[in-house]
Amino acid sequence: AQDALRQAQKMEAVGQLTGGIAHDFNNLLAGILGALEIIQRQTARGVTDIDRYVRMAMASANRAAALTHRLLAFSRRQPLAPKSLDASALVQGLSELLIRTLGENVRLDLVTSPDLWRTRCDPHQLENAILNLAINARDAMPEGGTVTIITENLDLQADDYSWYPAVPAGHYVALTVTDTGVGMTAEVASKAFEPFFTTKPFGQGTGLGLSMIYGFTRQSNGYIKIFSEPGKGTSVRLYLPQCDADDEEQPADVPVTVEPRA
Ligand code: ADP
Repeated sequence: AQDALRQAQKMEAVGQLTGGIAHDFNNLLAGILGALEIIQRQTARGVTDIDRYVRMAMASANRAAALTHRLLAFSRRQPLAPKSLDASALVQGLSELLIRTLGENVRLDLVTSPDLWRTRCDPHQLENAILNLAINARDAMPEGGTVTIITENLDLQADDYSWYPAVPAGHYVALTVTDTGVGMTAEVASKAFEPFFTTKPFGQGTGLGLSMIYGFTRQSNGYIKIFSEPGKGTSVRLYLPQCDADDEEQPADVPVTVEPRA
């Protein structure tokens, strides 16, 4: 509980910080891009070398702009619109997008339970989480491999302190994404949920994927666990609480309004 609280406070602080930085940084970038465009037009017919460097600068500025957009999306309180859903159907609906995302070298196995309990969460956020997990799995298998996505009912009889973090006893819809990739050391696994923690080369990882998924599962009253062994592969499991069948009849929670950012 202490860990979860610390993580939540950290996410809150990071959210406020990144919101401010991203906004200012974006305004600066707009100026840089505008100026570079003018220089590019003026030099287009002149010294070709300058033009080349201007293009490089523009490409970097564009990449930086894309990064701030992701930061903004992260810091904005995403209103959750939870509803009762069948995670098996949701995973099946994503299969084509997953195959495209994983590319030719990675095989996709879907093992979705046909009589899965229902769970209550935001379907778009869950789709995002699954796609992010698939991207991490793909990145962990540069030589190719297999990604397996399993949905199953899980009746957890006692609190599960194995691995990290602990999950209390209860009825869960378990969604597990497993890869046959490089795996994580215990140290990487323990830091993987921290915002901005990444082992990927600069420009390739933001370190926000797993922390956003952590935030989403906790807001959905669920849990997330990493099981991983270096050289063998990684499983990331979401534990989403079972909801009553008649939950379906209830209207979705009214989403919290997002304060506009000046
Ligand atoms: P990013 O993918 O941008 O680095 P994440 O928060 O999604 O950010 O992941 C943080 C880190 O956790 C990654 O940089 C990587 O070191 C590790 N990681 C995440 N998923 C996997 C995986 N499936 N296999 C191995 N390492 C992983």
